[in-house]
Amino acid sequence: MQWRGRRSSDNVEDVRGTGGGGRNLLAGGGIGTLLIAAIIYFMGGDPSQVLQSTQLQPPTQQQAPYQASAEEQELANFVGVVLADTEDVWAQIFNQMKQTYTPPKLVLFSGQVQSACGGASSAMGPFYCPANQKAYIDLSFYTDLKNKLGGGGDFAMAYVIAHEIGHHVQNLLGTNAMVQQARSQLSEAEYNKLSVALELQADFYAGLWAHYTQKQKNVLEEGDIEEAMKTASAIGDDKLQMQAQGYTVPDAFTHGTSEQRMKWFKLGFETGDIQTGNTFQGL
Ligand SMILES: [Zn+2]
Repeated sequence: MQWRGRRSSDNVEDVRGTGGGGRNLLAGGGIGTLLIAAIIYFMGGDPSQVLQSTQLQPPTQQQAPYQASAEEQELANFVGVVLADTEDVWAQIFNQMKQTYTPPKLVLFSGQVQSACGGASSAMGPFYCPANQKAYIDLSFYTDLKNKLGGGGDFAMAYVIAHEIGHHVQNLLGTNAMVQQARSQLSEAEYNKLSVALELQADFYAGLWAHYTQKQKNVLEEGDIEEAMKTASAIGDDKLQMQAQGYTVPDAFTHGTSEQRMKWFKLGFETGDIQTGNTFQGL
């Protein structure tokens, strides 16, 4: 993906190095092994259940200024450009819908962070918090994608960010609130289906982002879409469950299978039409 020399977003909040000194966030939290396995690959959605059960210790001393490696700073710059791309794309789409797009903040943290949805550690992966309309990412996720999850590459990282911004779009459009409202009347399995539909729609929105960014700026390089697809496949819940526990439990999927994730990303990329992204249809 071509990204140098383009606008970088003003909406990045860099809190790296201020998170509270490398304590083990999950220690003594009473969280089962299975859940830990699941949240290690947590990619967004609604983290509140996990987050509410974790408590952060306040930092007891001033930290030394955060020292990013050159490689990490490069990645931070890249993330700022991708965030700006999402702002340009969604401003255009919202404009077409006669609405105004309010961009979210993207918080860069290291190790752990306190969000309006509770405390989070980088082991949970990137997430979006609807309560304060901020997305959170520890840049080490880039390395995890490559080394542990079998995805990786700059466009893969861009896809992950576009997915989180997709959750923000759902928040603005009221989709998220609709699902949360329906929750009390639904069984766990039924609610889980809606939750998967939310995730797949965020993938679809990431596809829309790729479609429009390409149209607006001609940034795609050979292999980029394949890279995103490979990552979507690598972080499907079936694959993750298989890695974590050796078998899959369809009712427990919260992001959708690898095949579903790829399908919806691709549909958004190919159609560029937000109307085709109803992942709730036919549930
Ligand atoms: Zn998500």
